[in-house]
Amino acid sequence: MEMPDTARLAELALERVQLGIFAVDRDYRIVMWNRFMSEHSGVCAEAARGRSIFECFPDLPHAWLKRKFDTVFLLHSGSFSSWQHRPWLLPFEHDCPITGSFDRMQQDCAFMPLMEDGQVVAVCVTIADVTELAAAWREKEAALEALRDSSERDALTGLFNRRYIIRRLEGEYRAWQASGEVFSVLLFDIDHFKHVNDTYGHPAGDAVLRRIAATVADEIGDTGVLARYGGEEFMVILPHCDPAGSRAAGERIRQAIAGDGIVLPDVRLSVTVSVGCATVREGAASVELLVEEADHALYAAKRGGRNRVAMAVAHA
Ligand code: GH3
Ligand code: MG
Ligand code: MG
Repeated sequence: MEMPDTARLAELALERVQLGIFAVDRDYRIVMWNRFMSEHSGVCAEAARGRSIFECFPDLPHAWLKRKFDTVFLLHSGSFSSWQHRPWLLPFEHDCPITGSFDRMQQDCAFMPLMEDGQVVAVCVTIADVTELAAAWREKEAALEALRDSSERDALTGLFNRRYIIRRLEGEYRAWQASGEVFSVLLFDIDHFKHVNDTYGHPAGDAVLRRIAATVADEIGDTGVLARYGGEEFMVILPHCDPAGSRAAGERIRQAIAGDGIVLPDVRLSVTVSVGCATVREGAASVELLVEEADHALYAAKRGGRNRVAMAVAHA
């Protein structure tokens, strides 16, 4: 049996391959255009051949692509363009069932010199459809992001958790050491919360926790960082805030909660909190000490009758 002609086979493979392949000469004229390119661009090989690619596709990133071609001609070496940097060279439809949020085929493109007698006679470009890969990559990124988020968040209230706010606190503390920029810490704890649980049940207690979290988040907006510090204890970091400012913020939080009737499916109840405030200062030699001062102030507020704000001894 006669061996098929290699050049002919190469031509047939070029037509079959699930990859866009084309080539341009020094004048950016299309000298090769495979079936993938015809099918996806709507321009057939006969119409494409001999025409400038920029004339055929006026919307191409002209300067960028020209530079790509010129570099290959000049340096005799190939280059690459990833979908992550440039989602596509030509705006093709994709036919992947799982597309993520992509409305166009995502493309990895390679630019290769076609050499003859030591000269680059044309630049060959391959376009790989990586839409499915890109969708999987995006999905993975989103999952990682959610995971990062969940490791910083409290599941019940959606607030930041203790680990997160301690890290933020350490950051604020370092900034204060470096620049002297003052900040305050509030700790507040729900008054007689055991009674809420005992009377209305644990799910009602959970609803109260969520409601208080939302009320305080609203109240402080972006003036501070709020976290669920423990069971029914919350922490706020107030950047740029001195003792007087922290007392005022504590009062606002206390009043917002005390004035907020909490409506549960079959009961309306009112809840109060006690607040302890501490401000960073020379002599508060660590984050731990600062939190301890706020904690002592919180217990002073409890002892003083609850539903009140107390300052750390150093500021009292
Ligand atoms: P005080 O005014 O002294 O703070 O009294 P209290 O009853 O609030 O104080 P205590 O710390 O003794 O009780 C806190 C209660 O909070 C006990 C615990 O069961 C409840 N608790 C902690 N975490 C949760 C939670 O996630 N959901 C609910 N429903 N209750 C919680
Ligand atoms: Mg309590
Ligand atoms: Mg408590």
